[in-house]
Amino acid sequence: MRYSLPGKVYLAGAGPGSAKLLTLGALEALRKADLVLHDDLVSADVLACIPARAAVQNVGKRCGHKKTTQDQINRRMIQAARGGQTVVRLKGGDPLIFGRTHEEITALRQAGVDFEIIPGITAAAAAAAEAQIPLTERNAASKLVLVTNHPSTDKMQRDWHTSVTRDATMVFYMPGHDFASLIAELAASGLGERTPCLLVSNASRPEQIMVRTTLGALESAPLAPAPSLLIVGSAVADARAEEWLSPAASAKEIAPPEPQEFHLSLQESDQITTE
Ligand code: SAH
Repeated sequence: MRYSLPGKVYLAGAGPGSAKLLTLGALEALRKADLVLHDDLVSADVLACIPARAAVQNVGKRCGHKKTTQDQINRRMIQAARGGQTVVRLKGGDPLIFGRTHEEITALRQAGVDFEIIPGITAAAAAAAEAQIPLTERNAASKLVLVTNHPSTDKMQRDWHTSVTRDATMVFYMPGHDFASLIAELAASGLGERTPCLLVSNASRPEQIMVRTTLGALESAPLAPAPSLLIVGSAVADARAEEWLSPAASAKEIAPPEPQEFHLSLQESDQITTE
């Protein structure tokens, strides 16, 4: 009779996108994986690190719809591990930050399956590194608040405005695109129009975009493609990013030269060369 040794599940963080930001622990787990169950947020760069012999399944959301239910994910992990397989449940960023990992930990514990959690670099840390700013600062930002503004989060957890203070850095995960109510809540909590804001889309990925603005101009700022983060607070004042001040000021900055002026300067330079 053949007995297979029980397998193990790794709940691992894939980091924000760049494979450079994958931990050695996550890479090691991927190298011995028989089965990888990953979220949509996991980048192609990271997926390319999975050896060809492993079975890979995307269990993330598509257009807001769960392709695989949480129950199905739990059952698949448990069944594979009981069959002796090494399973990596790979999640974007850090698995313990807005990663819905609680359900999986509970299911694995109840099933008596051996598991290990491998932390990852969360999107906020990658965004701050790319923008070259600290998220906390001895004299100006003594508090770091990670918030989700996602409408599916229950009301109690959305009461983030109680944490808003001038010395806080607020990082909004899943900020959505409609900033009107968010801006109103931040203003009602005492933040002024000039409070620095930073929008970071696709941190650490080739398509990364970073826009620095203020609370007063945030609503008119260009849309940041998902996944994106909004960081609010004095810590982001010196962020290395494109600046968006107001629709009028920014339009002037990016507008092409007036055709007439262009024509004139051509004539002038023509004269210079012919002289
Ligand atoms: N566990 C993840 C967060 C999952 S929630 C982490 O620790 O980073 C999903 C949200 O994370 C996205 O809506 C977005 O707000 C943020 N996010 C994830 N990757 C990102 C990236 N590369 N750049 C900007 N935001 C990112």
